[in-house]
Amino acid sequence: MALDTLLKGGMSLSFEVFPPKEDRPLEPLLATLESLYAFEPDFISCTYGAGGTNKGRSLEICEAISRAGRSYALAHFTCVGNTREGIARELEGYRAAGVKSVLALRGDLPAGWEGTRGDFEHSSQLMEYIRELDGGLTIGAACYPEKHIAAPSFEADIDALLLKQRAGAGFAISQLCYDPEGYARFIEKARKKGFNLPVAIGIMPVLSRDGLLRMTLSNGCSIPAALSEIIGKYSDRPEEFKRAGKEYTAALIDRFLKEDIAGIHLYTLNNRTDAAEVLALSSFERRARA
Ligand code: FAD
Repeated sequence: MALDTLLKGGMSLSFEVFPPKEDRPLEPLLATLESLYAFEPDFISCTYGAGGTNKGRSLEICEAISRAGRSYALAHFTCVGNTREGIARELEGYRAAGVKSVLALRGDLPAGWEGTRGDFEHSSQLMEYIRELDGGLTIGAACYPEKHIAAPSFEADIDALLLKQRAGAGFAISQLCYDPEGYARFIEKARKKGFNLPVAIGIMPVLSRDGLLRMTLSNGCSIPAALSEIIGKYSDRPEEFKRAGKEYTAALIDRFLKEDIAGIHLYTLNNRTDAAEVLALSSFERRARA
């Protein structure tokens, strides 16, 4: 089933993994994937390295997911350093591997870069090109409940999201978000402006102080008071931080289930155990997938 149709059909569960570095073995991630299938995820996405690094590995992983036949594969793909010819070639590789869905992104710009140094500067341009190349691919877009860090305003970022919808995106996956009320305001505003795509909310499990600070600060995401409290209380006790963080993440999932979302997209950080514990602590399995 196409992912846009799937996401319109009820609450989905999906996972995100990232490819190991070129010099690391693939087997540990393949084993993680095997155990993630037990959750019957609707799809599993694999990230695409900044500057196109490690792109062969992204393809290998998407191919493995696709071949296993237990979940759909969603390939992240970016504009960074990519020419029209290169994109056409790479997408042909994904198509040959049985991958039918692409999350089309601008991509994280490597430090010191002004633009993408590729043929497209924005995700919507990449989406238009993908549609031109292959109308059979389902395209997803990134969205930002607290606005993209470089967007001049909320309004401008929602307008950019509408460009992605017009360019052919059929669904969206959000940036990590710890602020359900902020998400509610974002989605209400976007819907009023004509945004009608299903959104899977991006959930980054709270596992370590440094990881949390790095991800929120680099993406301009807020840290609610309850999360600050966990940082304040457990900063020097990593195990207790992790336990409190998992409970926080599970409660966050439950809270998001009351919002206008089409799915929970869990950033697994390639760790099966943490993802499993967070899901077990939440009521997601019972309430959304009974
Ligand atoms: P765009 O849609 O191009 O937007 C980038 C900025 O430009 C925004 O501020 C937007 O408001 C503005 N903008 C958009 N269109 C226009 C326009 N036509 N004119 C003027 N301004 C415009 N990065 C990776 O490198 N690899 C990954 O695998 C990856 N996976 C991700 C998965 C998810 C779910 C998310 C949310 C992000 C992911 N990213 C990944 C990060 C993403 O590439 C960055 O956030 C990037 O800075 C923006 O990507 P975008 O697709 O939203 O870009």
